Amino acid sequence: MLTSVDPQTATAVYIDSLGVDALAQAAAYTQGNHWLLLVSLLVAWLNCWLFVRLDILGRLNQLLASKLRALRVFLLCSSYFLVTSIVTMPLAIYAGWWRETSYNRTSQLLGDFLSQTLLSTAIFAVLGGLFFLMLYELIRRVGQRWWVWSGMMTALALSILLLISPILIEPLFNQYQPVPAGQVQNELRKLATRAQIPVDRIFTYDGSRQSNNFTANVSGIGSSARIAISDVALSSATLDEVKAVTAHEVGHYVLGHIWYIVGLYALLSILFFFISARSFGLFARLFGLKAPLDSAVGLPVLMFIISLLGFLGEPITNSLIRANELAADRYSLEAVRLPDAMAGALVKTAEYRDPRPHPLQEFLFYTHPSVERRVLMAMQWKAEHGG
Ligand SMILES: [Zn+2]
Repeated sequence: MLTSVDPQTATAVYIDSLGVDALAQAAAYTQGNHWLLLVSLLVAWLNCWLFVRLDILGRLNQLLASKLRALRVFLLCSSYFLVTSIVTMPLAIYAGWWRETSYNRTSQLLGDFLSQTLLSTAIFAVLGGLFFLMLYELIRRVGQRWWVWSGMMTALALSILLLISPILIEPLFNQYQPVPAGQVQNELRKLATRAQIPVDRIFTYDGSRQSNNFTANVSGIGSSARIAISDVALSSATLDEVKAVTAHEVGHYVLGHIWYIVGLYALLSILFFFISARSFGLFARLFGLKAPLDSAVGLPVLMFIISLLGFLGEPITNSLIRANELAADRYSLEAVRLPDAMAGALVKTAEYRDPRPHPLQEFLFYTHPSVERRVLMAMQWKAEHGG
């Protein structure tokens, strides 16, 4: 089919529309995020070293000696997550608030940021404590090949978390409301109906409380599944852009990407825990830890190994997740047929994701394909379908 504008040129026009300064700032912001991955790993090393050197969990274990074993393990694991959040707090404030503020990615006040961080720390300490209580039970009961079963445990834990998160956890951080009645609601309901999503499961939330990012997401499973659009996106997008973005999220939902992610993390946990089981002795010697793998006193070393594997595995997990994003884009193009609105919305996300990264940078660190690649796909679709 003939078309007046070639996709490459159209893509370049979209990306360049951001302006030289905004592109340079997006590149600096994105590269800084990637360096922060390395800094986080170094902080994880420091955290583990402190735990072992000060024998924090060993002392706590002695204090709790009279308690029931399961309660003791839970308290040790929860304490690990609480103390870790204190050790990593300066980095969390720098990366999550100070840097975000200086790049104008958030308008949140420090007090609100800190209170929400404390809240998420408390939730994480309880959930993390429960997960590792189950893991140490698994090691104790199954023995040698415990890591084989860790995949099933991770899948179960993730599924429960996904089920309760939109109902019990997310409302603690943001207010979710039905999209207000009107033209936008009508259009989104049409989209939802076509995908057999209950029309009352599309929400808007005050994402502007934490972030100025133009974003939407899909969350939950089964009856708790829902699609949510940040008020930032709703207020700064045209109706067509909202349709294109929502159709992308509907694509994730319809294509079952949540189950893909659950399966992926289940397989990864088998792999990570297998390597952890094999290398625990080596890392325990490196840090000077005396406790064995099946003792919760050794959790800091186990968690350091997981952090290291997560860092090294970043390119693999990112590549597997990136594929979903292109599939959701394709779903949106087929469903609402708005390639230009899609490109317009994507350009708005380029403020916080360098739209033109080096291909190696994209391969290693990007959880989404670059905006340039995604806009190009939209423009190619437009060319093929005659606009
Ligand atoms: Zn997506």
